[in-house]
Amino acid sequence: MTNNLLLNVVNLRKYFPIRKGLLSRVTAHVQAVDDISFPIRQGETLGLVGESGCGKTTTGRTILRLLEPTAGRVEFDGKDVATAGAAELRRLRRDMQIVFQDPFSSLNPRMTIKGIVEEGLIIHRLGDRNERAEKVRETLRQVGLDPSYINRYPHEFSGGQRQRVSVARALALNPRFMVLDEPISALDVSIQSQIINLLVELREKFGLTYLFISHDLSVVEYISDRVAVMYLGEIAEMAKSEELYANPLHPYTQVLLSSIPTMDPLRRRKRIILQGDVPSPINPPSGCRFHPRCPWAKEVCRRQTPKLLAIDGHQFRCHAVEKEQMGEGDYELPKQRTLPDEALLKSTVGFEVPAGG
Ligand code: ADP
Ligand code: MG
Repeated sequence: MTNNLLLNVVNLRKYFPIRKGLLSRVTAHVQAVDDISFPIRQGETLGLVGESGCGKTTTGRTILRLLEPTAGRVEFDGKDVATAGAAELRRLRRDMQIVFQDPFSSLNPRMTIKGIVEEGLIIHRLGDRNERAEKVRETLRQVGLDPSYINRYPHEFSGGQRQRVSVARALALNPRFMVLDEPISALDVSIQSQIINLLVELREKFGLTYLFISHDLSVVEYISDRVAVMYLGEIAEMAKSEELYANPLHPYTQVLLSSIPTMDPLRRRKRIILQGDVPSPINPPSGCRFHPRCPWAKEVCRRQTPKLLAIDGHQFRCHAVEKEQMGEGDYELPKQRTLPDEALLKSTVGFEVPAGG
């Protein structure tokens, strides 16, 4: 990892307008991404974590300008992605690639592996026929697939192999940055680590920079240098990985961590059960967006939006933590990371996200 800033996301917002009918006026907005900022250095991996619907995919797609931002900026290698001219945008479209969650629906079933991996090269007019064919074979080898499979179709492959094809499709363009949008969520647990290992290997080999999206904090721990926890379009907490897992500050992060099974007694936490589902991002809760589900919520949390604060680069957005850090805590907060029993609520947590979610 270097100190060079590769990607800089600044106050990014993405709101989706909602219309009742085709011709009617916009009645409301889905505030899918609401004022988030983070830098990613060259060679670094930022994990982006949160429950389904909290805005992870929208963040990834807006960064790549597959969606137009409502407000804010994305700078790649010092250039503003939104104002890039045609030639620059072409270059950016090669430098920034995406691997999707579901290798079953994201690969065209009518195209051969060769066609799929070669497509980007054709679009970007890279190489002649033979050079492209050679590049496809080389890329397949790099992702651990036998190049002799080149004329097969996606249905002839297992889930893990298909995801290798997706990675090859992105890698063939020699990108510098990849958004990995839940790249292993649709795969068997037994092969998930193989794909993670492949991604780590490729990152080292090619100096790649990743935004690794997952709904599961345990998945991103190994691969991420830093982790951002998203809740309802906002960043609730962001820190270096070791720091976040050792010292989670935000109640939401603690809830997510408490649901991870662990054999390590030092890290075993009392399981915190979270109430209800993520509220609608059309009308986010007042004050702290997490307050209706937060086991520690107080009156102020309902009234007042907590500011995003940082202690030694560890960012969090929580009144209770803020008070605690300032030594004013009347919150029996996190230190012991457990809850009063009455706060253990009936419903079980639904952190399992259906494929495509
Ligand atoms: P995640 O990837 O974390 O599951 P998404 O970014 O897919 O979350 O979605 C965030 C919110 O934005 C959700 O409420 C989702 O329903 C909404 N959303 C996503 N895409 C669109 C769209 N094209 N139009 C309207 N709402 C959308
Ligand atoms: Mg998603």
